[in-house]
Amino acid sequence: TEPLLEVKGLRKLFPGTGGPLGKKGFVRAVDGVDLTIYPGETVSIVGESGCGKSTTGRCILRLIEPTEGEILFQGKDLTKLNQAELRGMRRDMQLVFQDPFASLNPRKTIRQILLDPLQIHGIGTAAERRKQVEEMIEIVGLTKQHLDRYPHEFSGGQRQRIGIARALILRPKLIIADEPVSALDVSIQAQVLNLLQDLQKEFQLTYLFISHDLSVVRHISDRVAVMYLGKVVEVAEKNKLYEAPQHPYTKALLSAVPVPNPDYRKQRIILEGDLPSPANPPTGCTFHPRCPSCMDICQTAAPRLQEKEAGHLVSCHLE
Ligand code: SF4
Ligand code: MG
Repeated sequence: TEPLLEVKGLRKLFPGTGGPLGKKGFVRAVDGVDLTIYPGETVSIVGESGCGKSTTGRCILRLIEPTEGEILFQGKDLTKLNQAELRGMRRDMQLVFQDPFASLNPRKTIRQILLDPLQIHGIGTAAERRKQVEEMIEIVGLTKQHLDRYPHEFSGGQRQRIGIARALILRPKLIIADEPVSALDVSIQAQVLNLLQDLQKEFQLTYLFISHDLSVVRHISDRVAVMYLGKVVEVAEKNKLYEAPQHPYTKALLSAVPVPNPDYRKQRIILEGDLPSPANPPTGCTFHPRCPSCMDICQTAAPRLQEKEAGHLVSCHLE
């Protein structure tokens, strides 16, 4: 099968200070990301805050203009589209936010919030749009009675259901979900994740899931990409990544989460030092100042993301 989305060499540099010697320079928020997503998959990007995962998601949707790179969606390079062409593509790609409250207009009823995208894209007659909205609210587990209320009248979990309904109303192919359950209580998180999984089957959706939470990522993903300082350092099928991580950073991240299998005992790996500034990244492998396995070559030569086994990509000089 052809990929639904292929990201190649994506870079986003923001102008900023804090470069070498305090000079003006660039914050290398996303620094050469490659990522392929096939139809029907859930691929997660996981990493600490500031690693560039949200910026990657927003560049893919061109909510932020990428500095460099290709974003092929169904084979079409989104970076080459003009605003009018982009508007057409937006129907196929929708974002679910971490905090739906901030993204739901407080002065609009839920009905209007769900009608807006249909009206903007000129879909259906007024009667058809009304019907679609009434169907969609039930699909996400709320009722028609909820449609005439305002966002503040809902709980966090219900608001996220509304955010999902709004993303889904245009029947997109790809949903980019940026920390969609991070603001919710753990009990509610599972409900929303299960809803996302049910919807994926029902509507043949493809997900790019962005999260710092390794337990959530494990629950939802088919494949996982680990990001560190604007780069993807490891990509693998979920079980491979969780059970046999190869990159020292992935190993350290995973050593901090509880394991479901008690026979598999891990040593907690504590990383030295703080996350370096993306305005002034270390030379060579950007992870080298914190890496427990750092070798001489790591300080000068940047490793490339390479396939170590079928489907398992790692960016590291270790054999
Ligand atoms: Fe560590 Fe070197 Fe691998 Fe970077 S390339 S992760 S510093 S061993
Ligand atoms: Mg973020």
